[in-house]
Amino acid sequence: MVKDKDYYKILGVGKNASKEEIKSAYKKLAKQYHPDLNKSPDAAEKFKEINEAAAVLGDDSKRSQYDQFGAAGPQFQGGGFSGFDFSDFMSESGGFGFDFDSIFENFFGGGGRGSGRARRRQRGSDLRYDMEIELEDAAFGATKTISIPRMEECEKCQGTGAESKSDVVTCDECGGRGVSTRTQRTPFGMFQTTTTCRKCRGQGKYIKNECPECDGRGAVQRTRKIEVKIPAGAVDGTNLRIQGGGEAGERETSSGDLYIVIHVKPHEIFERHGNDIYIKAHVPFAAAALGGEIEVPTLKGKASLKIPEGTQSNTVFRMRHQGIPDLHSHHVGDENVEVIISVPEKLTKKQKKLLEDFEKENKEKKGMFW
Ligand SMILES: [Zn+2]
Ligand SMILES: [Zn+2]
Repeated sequence: MVKDKDYYKILGVGKNASKEEIKSAYKKLAKQYHPDLNKSPDAAEKFKEINEAAAVLGDDSKRSQYDQFGAAGPQFQGGGFSGFDFSDFMSESGGFGFDFDSIFENFFGGGGRGSGRARRRQRGSDLRYDMEIELEDAAFGATKTISIPRMEECEKCQGTGAESKSDVVTCDECGGRGVSTRTQRTPFGMFQTTTTCRKCRGQGKYIKNECPECDGRGAVQRTRKIEVKIPAGAVDGTNLRIQGGGEAGERETSSGDLYIVIHVKPHEIFERHGNDIYIKAHVPFAAAALGGEIEVPTLKGKASLKIPEGTQSNTVFRMRHQGIPDLHSHHVGDENVEVIISVPEKLTKKQKKLLEDFEKENKEKKGMFW
């Protein structure tokens, strides 16, 4: 997702639209653009867009992430956020008979009236956070604090979704089995059909009184500060997994994981190739001719580098172990210094005279200078 889509605009609602408003805007648009009902060529694309918008804005947690970070923004993406699987509910709706209600339930996590379909409780979504770091942080490691908006287990009900322990009751309809079995006598024999229990929707238990803090979801939206330890030697694309750092799942399921994806910013003066770094150092021509010590920047600060008499331009000197440590071993990369001889652009009279004398001496010695 490159373009930052305006989901509010797509659904034609304001930024402060209530869930009900979003729902009814979606319903109207979905009917208008459903490819079975609308034969114009761009209907399918438009329909997809509407569904994507509803999938995000219809979900409290995704909506708040979207409000803070945008769809492409500084790359904060909830689990199924960008990869919303459109085909999945198309088949669920049976292709043709388009069941808007079951889609609403999918998006808006609603009370689930009517469908009677078993909904497997879902483990919390994984979250992804794209983090930009400096080359120095990648080289030496760092600890960064980030803020993550996510669903967390409701403290009041400890994730059960019930007001009190006694509010979680075994389903009397199915005896806690989650399915109901019906035996039918037919001319071909006895048939037993097993269907998901409608009362508890296959859970075997239901909640008499829902927790008022989380409305029975077992989870609430929170913004949490998390410390991230960046290992020394991190490279662009290093993936750090913080187990359980993602969103809280539905009742009695585990949390998702948080994935931190590292992006190392290009450095102003150093170029990185693997664990080695490269730099160009400008050296006055007299210093290069005479040799001596020059000062060069390193990732840690400065170091002095000895160059021999008669150093030519583009000579590369290697400073051992001044590069980046390897992520998986004890090896440390090098710093490679390419010397660029700089020629003065403005000379004083005296300098000119000195150089002319120098050149005269040079010619007498060599006869020619090329
Ligand atoms: Zn609760
Ligand atoms: Zn039941």
